[in-house]
Parts: sequence; C-alpha cells; structure tokens
Amino acid sequence: MKDGRLRERISSDTRLHALRNLRQTSTLPYYRVMHTAVDPITVVEGDEKIMLGANNYLGLANHPAVLRGAHDAVNRFGGSATGSPLLNGTSELRLELEHEIAQWHQTEDAIVFPSGYQTNLGTIAGLVGVGDSIVVDTEAHASIQDGARLSGASVRTFRHNDLVSLRQQLMRISDRPGAALVVVDGLYSMRGDLAPVDEISNLCSEFAITLMIDEAHSVGVLGTHRTGAAELYGVEDRIDVRMGALSKGLGATGGFIAGTHELIDSLRLNARAFVFSTAAVPAALGAALAAIRIIRSDEGATLADQALRNARLLRTRLLDWGIDVGGTTALPSGDDVVAPNVPVVLGDEMRAIEVWRRIYDEGVFTALAVAPAVDVGQALLRMCVMATHTTQQIEDAARIIATAIIESRQGSIPNTNQFKESR
Ligand code: PMP
Repeated sequence: MKDGRLRERISSDTRLHALRNLRQTSTLPYYRVMHTAVDPITVVEGDEKIMLGANNYLGLANHPAVLRGAHDAVNRFGGSATGSPLLNGTSELRLELEHEIAQWHQTEDAIVFPSGYQTNLGTIAGLVGVGDSIVVDTEAHASIQDGARLSGASVRTFRHNDLVSLRQQLMRISDRPGAALVVVDGLYSMRGDLAPVDEISNLCSEFAITLMIDEAHSVGVLGTHRTGAAELYGVEDRIDVRMGALSKGLGATGGFIAGTHELIDSLRLNARAFVFSTAAVPAALGAALAAIRIIRSDEGATLADQALRNARLLRTRLLDWGIDVGGTTALPSGDDVVAPNVPVVLGDEMRAIEVWRRIYDEGVFTALAVAPAVDVGQALLRMCVMATHTTQQIEDAARIIATAIIESRQGSIPNTNQFKESR
C-alpha cells in the first residue's frame, strides 16, 4: 500500500491484531468455513455441527421446492441479470416475485432489492435527505443506521424500545420544516425482543410522521400471514414502509419494501442502491418466490409453529440449567411471544470467546456478537433455531451450551490469553 498513513492506520488497528491472533490459534468465532448447506446438521471445517448460528428459521434454505425454484430460475434466466433493472431491463420473474409479496402483504405494490442491507440503505436515503429528520432506535440494525447517515437527514436516536424517549425526539423535530421518518426493527435479532409496534405507530400517527419497520427477522415467522411483528400487533395497515429480508426465514437472498404504488414507484426512481446495482440473481428470485408460496400455505404455518416451539424448548432447557435467557416479549394481550433467536448475555469478550469455542468443539455452532454489534463487555451468544431441528438436537445443544457456560463461570475452561495479549 503506497499511502504510509493508511498502511499505518491499518497495521495499528488492535481489532485486526485480535482477529489475526484468534485465527492463528483457531479460536476465531468468525468466518468459519462450511462445506454443506445450512441445515440442522451442517458440516463446518470437516465436522458435523448442530447449526444454531444461521437465520434459516423455517429450514427453507435447503427445502426441495425452494431449490427447485432456484434451479428453474437459473435454467430460464441464467446466472445474472448483468445490470440494473432500470437501465438493463427487468426479468418477469422479479415482477412475479414483487407481485407475490404485494399480495401477501396486501399492499398495492412491492420492490425487490438484491440484499436486505441495500433495501434499507436505498429506501432510507431515497425517502429522506438534507433538511429532513430521521429517528431510529439505538439498537436498529447497522443497515438502518448506515442508511440514515447516508441520507444526509438529521439523525436522532431514542433509547431501545423506550416510548418516552421516542416521544421526546418526536417533539423535538415536530417544529422542523423538513419531512420525518421513524425506523425500527420489528424483531431485534440480538436481544430477540419485539418493538412495541402498536404504540410506536400510535405515536407516529399523533405526530404525523412516516413509520418504516424492518421485519428482516420476523417475516416468515410471526403474524397470522407470517408477514412479521406489525401483523402480530394487528397494525400492519398503519405501517407506511414495510421492509422484509428474503435472506433469513425465506432461505433466499435479497430484501423488499411493500407499500403503496406511489411509494414503490418513488423508490424505483430514487433508491440509488436499487437503481445503480445489478438486480438480484435469478436463483435468489426463484428461491424466494417458492419460499413465499410455502410460507403462505399450511406448510408455512406448520413450519413457523415448529420454529417457535423449538425456540421455546431451547429457552426452557437453558432456564432449567439456570442460564439467564432473553428472547421473549409480552404482548398487550398478556401473551408472551418467543423469538426464534435465543440470546444469552455472556459479558466479558475473552471469556465469551472461550465459551463459544468450547461449545463449538462439543459440536454446536452458535453465533457470538461482540462490540460494536453489542455494547463493550456485553458479548452475546445467539442461538437461532430452525423448524427442522429435532427435539433431540435441541436437547443436546442446550446441554452442551449450558455446560460450557456453567463451567466458564466456575473457571474450569482454560483461559488461552490470546485475545488479551493481542489488545
Ligand atoms: N435488517 C436486519 C434487522 C438484519 O438483521 C439484516 C441482516 N443481518 C439486514 C437488515 C440486512 O439483510 P441482508 O442480510 O439480506 O443484507
């Protein structure tokens, strides 16, 4: 690298050193190499693992009908669209998928982006700009925060799921001349808690502010038609901008916005992450279309129930072992909703990496989030169940996870010190 300042900045990055040290000692929880599809049992670096680290909630990523959808799409439309839908034409498959999503969400229209990240970036920056305001939850996904920053609008945050804090921010922006947008996740994938979408939408109505909900982790799983958290709260008709990912419960790749014709046409023109990027690959479109048809059928209802039943089982077993588990939300009806992602806060990062490694060695793949994905010192182990996990797999995983956490508290996992030395 010719620029010495940049070279110096990169080589003095302590996080980079930590990553390389952990990789060398094979304790790095990230970028593990998979040899098979993400199924309940996945081969990772040569060994079979019970997979709790993927977002394949309904088990659709390797479902025969979804694979057939992908194959048929490749056979018909090839490997790539090779250009933006605006300039280079759009496959009828993408239009069919958008139509299906709009019908499913009972909205006038929908638009499909190549990824969920691009959906948020393009939509937020396409809707608001300099002179406008945007208000986001402090724990909103990185793609929401990045979209907010990119938009040039004045960005305000409110404390996670705190309606008083949100009201304060809405009051502060209410006399500003520009447009305003509130963006929240429907289901927060780290904590596994839902946004109080009903009350947030009430507040947005009171202040006449547009509301966008990111249902990346809830679509396919929650609600009567499985469109997500807004539907679970019965307020889906009051959400102006409904975002979903094709890449998690749907087992494909991509993202979408469902809304009015006017909103969607506006995005077709103004969402730069859509206009200036090659359309989603045909395989992803075909897979997503097949997945949505399953989700809208009785099979989809059964899979969603099964995923949540597995989440409940995993939570219960961990609680039985005395592990403090998050991942539930009380609805206004008094019912508790369990998320398909089951979080356990481990705290100290070095200890968390050791626990993760122990669990991995015992045959379970989990996801470990450290700062900046979570607050410093609040490392979080996240388990995502699939509808297709067997009871035995969940029971075995719970025992392995609980044992590793308990032993780490008792100090019996050897501390490698690798991470510490590298800091
Ligand atoms: N929104 C949320 C809440 C997410 O968790 C993610 C992915 N982790 C995205 C958006 C981005 O979606 P994708 O992975 O399809 O780019």
